[in-house]
Amino acid sequence: MVYFLLFFLFFLIVVSFCRKAYRENKNSLDYHSMSMHYYSLALQHWREHRNPNECLRVSAMYRLKRFQESDIKKVEISCVAGCANCNKAKKIYSIKEALKSTPIPNISCKFNLHNEGLVNGIGFCRCIYIPIIS
Ligand SMILES: [Zn+2]
Repeated sequence: MVYFLLFFLFFLIVVSFCRKAYRENKNSLDYHSMSMHYYSLALQHWREHRNPNECLRVSAMYRLKRFQESDIKKVEISCVAGCANCNKAKKIYSIKEALKSTPIPNISCKFNLHNEGLVNGIGFCRCIYIPIIS
């Protein structure tokens, strides 16, 4: 009986630790999945030859919020295999500035993703925020 109680106590402790860890991670998981969700919506818009920029903007915003939650203060714009306009737009931003001025997506992007053709002259901006860890 005593062993059973000890085991039960141990079980309760483990459960409470797991719940605490879950609560602490919950928001970052949510921000990450929201960012992924809006990115896939942007891809869907692009395939349907609709402007993907609003979905890309929301996806990038959730990415910033996720960084902000991890106490990251600055981000850099990276655009690997993007267009010439995006390569010129590389810059370092504080997360607050980036949330305010929303430099991603680059509205002058001309990247022709999967050669599907630009949507009224709008490309599919591949820029992403990279955290700067100092
Ligand atoms: Zn571009």
